[in-house]
Amino acid sequence: MINIAEPQIGVEEIQKVTEVLKSKILAQGEFVYQFETSFAKFLDIEFAAAVSSGTAALHAIMAALPIYPGDKVLTTPFSFVASSNAVLYCGAVPVFVDIDPNTYNISPAALEEAIKKHPDAKAVLVVHIFGLPSDMDDICYLTKKNKLYLIEDCAQAHGALYKGRKVGTFGEAAAFSFYSTKNITSGEGGMVVTSSPEINRKVRMFINHGQSKKYQHDILGYNYRMSNIHAAIGIEQLKKLGEFNQKRILNAQYYYKNIKNKKVVLPYTPKESTHVYHQFVLQTENRKKFIKHLHENGVGSAVHYPEIIPRQKLYRDRFNYREKWPAAEKLCRRCVSIPVHQGLTEQQFRYIVKVVNSYA
Ligand SMILES: *Cc1c(COP(=O)(O)O)cnc(C)c1O
Repeated sequence: MINIAEPQIGVEEIQKVTEVLKSKILAQGEFVYQFETSFAKFLDIEFAAAVSSGTAALHAIMAALPIYPGDKVLTTPFSFVASSNAVLYCGAVPVFVDIDPNTYNISPAALEEAIKKHPDAKAVLVVHIFGLPSDMDDICYLTKKNKLYLIEDCAQAHGALYKGRKVGTFGEAAAFSFYSTKNITSGEGGMVVTSSPEINRKVRMFINHGQSKKYQHDILGYNYRMSNIHAAIGIEQLKKLGEFNQKRILNAQYYYKNIKNKKVVLPYTPKESTHVYHQFVLQTENRKKFIKHLHENGVGSAVHYPEIIPRQKLYRDRFNYREKWPAAEKLCRRCVSIPVHQGLTEQQFRYIVKVVNSYA
């Protein structure tokens, strides 16, 4: 079976983790600071704070802005649940805005409507889904004009570019994830990036039990710190990110050129963007049958995501949403991800194309 995701761990990561273990400084330490410095440099941004997960990164950003209980945060219904759960952690209210059926990202036109309907909204949380940047010109215009905070969820988009500019640098702050299946990994882990000294200071307190100095606790914080062990993996993975993304892009280009089956729709990449293909997501009418065909031929696949967030029980139980999100709901019924990761061999991606093309 060709796996849908597969972290690529080399001798470099193994050596660096061994170094940490031998040093006996296992919790937060030098490697964490080094990872933060390299990550900030990579994005060319002032501050980066390493945390225990992408979810923790999102929570820390919300808390630092701050997003207060009852505040409205406009966001996409088509994402992993973590993005809007971070809104719930603050007692705030996610207002879901439908996606653009081509990019799968939040629709700027729908966002403009939602801002009119919710003039009291506090922030916009965009997710660069599957590695494709959201429509940042329109989104930045709308957030600036309406004085809304802009938060970017870059958990799937390390190194993705919008008009040559890296995602994670457009808003007040951005969250990255280094979960095992992401474009780069630290096992588990995350990063908050920002150019605001104030947000950086608050995030650092929040992720470390609200400490302003040792054993001086100013606010209610959490233990969201990253360990030296995870940072060691992250440092080595970050060095390989360019190469990993290039591999994903080449795999995707091969798919665009060679997948010729009228029964599947390929993902769309606008000219102004560099998509980093965290996932390569097809659409098809009879998904169950398509997945069975892939599986029988040894090609792993996954459904990202089978349900929109506001239809999850957690959200239905809490909120009485009356809106509909037709584009997101349609995509949930039709989407299938096929392997595109950097670990695929040429033989494998050629084989995947053959299997997809033979689906009838
Ligand atoms: C993975 C992911 C997260 C959460 O990251 P974790 O490190 O798993 O906590 C948040 N948002 C999106 C879009 C993700 O894909």
